[in-house]
Amino acid sequence: MKTIIVGGGIGGVASALLAAKRGESVSLFEAHESLGGCASWFSRGSFCFDVGATTVSGVLAHQPLGRLTQHFTKAPGLVLQDPGIVFHLSNGKRLSYFSNFEAWMAELELNFPHLSHRPFWRKIYEINNLAWDLLDSVKSFPFQSFSEIFEVFSRPDLFKLYPHLLVNTEMMLKVHGLYQEDYLELINGILLISAQAHADQVPFLIGAMALAYPSQTYAPLGGMRGFFNALEEECIASGVKIFKNTNVSKIHENKAYTDHQVTEFDQIILNLPYWNQAALFEGIEKKNVEKDTMATKEAWGAFTLYFAIPGNIGELYQQVHLNHPDVANYFISFSIPNDELKAPVGWQTVTISTHVSAHDWFELSPSDYRQKKKSLMDLILNDFKKRFSVQEIKFLIAGTPKTFERYTSRKFGYVGGLPFLYGMNPFSISSSETKLKNVYRVGDTIFPGQGLVGVVAGAMSLDHRIKKSRI
Ligand SMILES: Cc1cc2nc3c(=O)[nH]c(=O)nc-3n(C[C@H](O)[C@H](O)[C@H](O)COP(=O)(O)OP(=O)(O)OC[C@H]3O[C@@H](n4cnc5c(N)ncnc54)[C@H](O)[C@@H]3O)c2cc1C
Repeated sequence: MKTIIVGGGIGGVASALLAAKRGESVSLFEAHESLGGCASWFSRGSFCFDVGATTVSGVLAHQPLGRLTQHFTKAPGLVLQDPGIVFHLSNGKRLSYFSNFEAWMAELELNFPHLSHRPFWRKIYEINNLAWDLLDSVKSFPFQSFSEIFEVFSRPDLFKLYPHLLVNTEMMLKVHGLYQEDYLELINGILLISAQAHADQVPFLIGAMALAYPSQTYAPLGGMRGFFNALEEECIASGVKIFKNTNVSKIHENKAYTDHQVTEFDQIILNLPYWNQAALFEGIEKKNVEKDTMATKEAWGAFTLYFAIPGNIGELYQQVHLNHPDVANYFISFSIPNDELKAPVGWQTVTISTHVSAHDWFELSPSDYRQKKKSLMDLILNDFKKRFSVQEIKFLIAGTPKTFERYTSRKFGYVGGLPFLYGMNPFSISSSETKLKNVYRVGDTIFPGQGLVGVVAGAMSLDHRIKKSRI
C-alpha cells in the first residue's frame, strides 16, 4: 500500500507515523524547508524562534500525544510548566493557573474572594476526564453512521456528557454565580487560546476541556524544533520518506504532481486546511471536494512578534489582557532558560501572539499595511517592556496573516483551527473522509482537531477508520 501525505504539519507527521505502523510505504511532501507548519520555527544567528504553537498538552499515556510518542526510541523532551499559564487581567489582578487543583482554587479565592469557585471547577475537571476517556475509547469521531453514535451513547458514563453540548459555557458561569466582568475576562482569555471562541459561543463540553487545558501544559526542550526533530527522527526510523521544499500542486486519479515528479499512490492524506484542498483537484474531483468545504466559515488570523531578551523568566507562558479595541489580550511564550537550542545562556527568545481578523490584512494598501503592523507592534511591545522591565531586545520581527499565508500556504492566513461553536450541528462538520475514494484529510480544520493534541486525535481517528475498513 503506497501512501502519500501532503503537508508536514503535526497532522501530516502523525499520519505518516501511523501509516508506517500499519505497514504502508509512506512518502511525506512538505512545501517548506522544515516540518511543523503552524508549529514550526526559524533561526536568526544562535537564536531559534517558534513561529506559532509553543505549548504542548495531551501528553499523558492515555492522551493522543502520549499514545503517539510513548514507543519512540527517543521521545521529545517535555517539561511540565507549573503554573501552566499566568494571567494578567486588565484590572491588575494576576493569577497563576497551577496544575494542583487546590493551588488553583487558592489563586481564584485570593483574587475573587466572595465567589464559590469549587463546584464549577470540579465539574470542569470531571467533564474533562470523561471527555479524554471518550476520545480514547471512541475511535470513530466524528460519527458517520447510527451504529457509531450508538457505540458512544450506549455507555452510560459517556452519555452523561451529552447534555453539556446543549448549554454554553457562559450559561454555566451564570448557574454557578460566577458571571461577573473580570471573571468572564479570565474565562474568555483561556477559551480564546484553547477553543478559539468566547464563553457564549463554546458548548460547555468543549469549554470544560479548554478550561482544564492550562493545568497540564508542557514546554518542549529545544522549542518546536526539538519537538519536531524527535518526530522526524522517528519517521525516518519507521521508513517514512520525507521530501522537504516539495509542493504538491495537483492530484488527479491516483497521481500526485510536484514540480519535480509525479508519484502514484494507493491512498493520499491531505494535511491541509479546508480552504486549500479543492485547488489541488480539477473537474469532477474538484467539485466533489468543494462540496465538503464550501460551507466552511472563516477562522482567526494571528499577529505575532518574535524577539530575544536577556533574562531568566521561569513562568514561560503568560497572557496579558489589555482590553484594547485592537488587542484584547496577547499570549507570551518565553523559551526555557538556558535551553541552548533556543538561545545562548542568559538569553531567552520570546514569541508573542494575538488573535486578529485575517481578512482585514489582505484588504489594506501597502502603506496602511505597514502602518497597522507598526501600531500593533508598538502597542504590544510598549506594554511588554514596561510590565517585565525589559530594556534591551534583539531581532524584532513581526508576523501577520499574510506572513502565515506565505510560510504555511494556509489560504487567507487562517490559523488556529475551526472553533466548534454552540448550537452547531456536530454532524455538519466534515470528517477525515472525503467524497473521493482513498483521499483522506487531517489537520486543525477537521473535527475534533484544534491545537497539536486535537490534530493528533484526528489523525488517530482516521487511522482507526482505515484499519476498520480493512477488516
Ligand atoms: C500563533 C499561533 C499559536 C498557537 N499556539 C498553540 C499552542 O501553543 N499549542 C497548540 O497545541 N496549538 C497552538 N496553535 C495551533 C497549532 O499550531 C495548529 O492548530 C497546528 O499546528 C496545525 O497543524 P496542522 O497539521 O493542522 O496544519 P499546519 O501546521 O498548517 O501544517 C500544514 C503543512 O502543510 C504544508 N503544505 C501546505 N500546502 C502544501 C502543499 N500543496 N504541498 C506540500 N505541503 C503543503 C505547509 O507548509 C504546512 O507545513 C497555535 C497556532 C498559531 C497560529
